[in-house]
Amino acid sequence: MPDLDLPFARAAHYRAAHRRAEPGLVGDLLKEHGTKVLVVRGNRAAIARQRVALLPPDDVAHLGVGLHLFLGEAEGVAYLAAVLADADAEPDLDVEWAGLRNFDEPDLEQGLVVEAIALAQWHAVNTHCPRCGTRTEVTQGGWVRHCPTDGTNQFPRTDPAVIMAITDVDDRLLLARGPQWGPGRRSVLAGFVEPGEGLEQAVVRETMEEVAVVVDPDSIEYRGSQSWPLPASLMLGFRARATSTRLVRQEDEIAEADWFTREEMAAAVADGHLGLPGRASIARSLIEDWYGARIED
Ligand SMILES: [Zn+2]
Repeated sequence: MPDLDLPFARAAHYRAAHRRAEPGLVGDLLKEHGTKVLVVRGNRAAIARQRVALLPPDDVAHLGVGLHLFLGEAEGVAYLAAVLADADAEPDLDVEWAGLRNFDEPDLEQGLVVEAIALAQWHAVNTHCPRCGTRTEVTQGGWVRHCPTDGTNQFPRTDPAVIMAITDVDDRLLLARGPQWGPGRRSVLAGFVEPGEGLEQAVVRETMEEVAVVVDPDSIEYRGSQSWPLPASLMLGFRARATSTRLVRQEDEIAEADWFTREEMAAAVADGHLGLPGRASIARSLIEDWYGARIED
């Protein structure tokens, strides 16, 4: 299976999960000058001189950090994320702020950023115990939230979503437009896996729900995965063959849907009538995987 080009799956660091339980881990690492700190503000990360800013602990101590997260290690250096307590306040730091869509960084930085933003997003909306409502305490370097009332632990979650390049018997690709997307924007279908469902079942169900196309379950082929942590998705990419071609849109989810030959898609992209998903997305990789080559915008 050739690899898809998946920028958020290119991590070059070691998460060093065994260290998370070390007593005082974060406090100790903040005292070490060699530690590098990535600053997270809401769903964005600090950038300096076109690169992810990896700062010494002293440079972030004054910033109003709400949460420190242990990201892992690379080549003897420990990496933390400092999540600012108030994402709306302008911090006293000479950096710019970039969201995941804007990242095209070396593997180490790319992997650290996606881990930091994913974990920060989980903390942002999981502040209280789901059993008893008590505010939970952050432990294990940011990898556990503990309830002091009933003693239960909460762990970071990621929600599986399937994304699929569906082709017909003539090997045309199905490209659809969501109702909120601008004119001409198209992508492959995607949807969340439901409780009690397998991945292949989700591919078949979502395709039927969104465009009423029948997928041959035996044709479903896994192609690769990457995190999309806004808020908490793991995108699992597939190719599959449809046994029907008539498209009936579920109108609240799909504004347009059509089958494209490679020539039709390339011509529509070239003349500006078709806009494909961004280069960092697994959707783009799946489309190029079917097309057989990189597509220039
Ligand atoms: Zn509780």
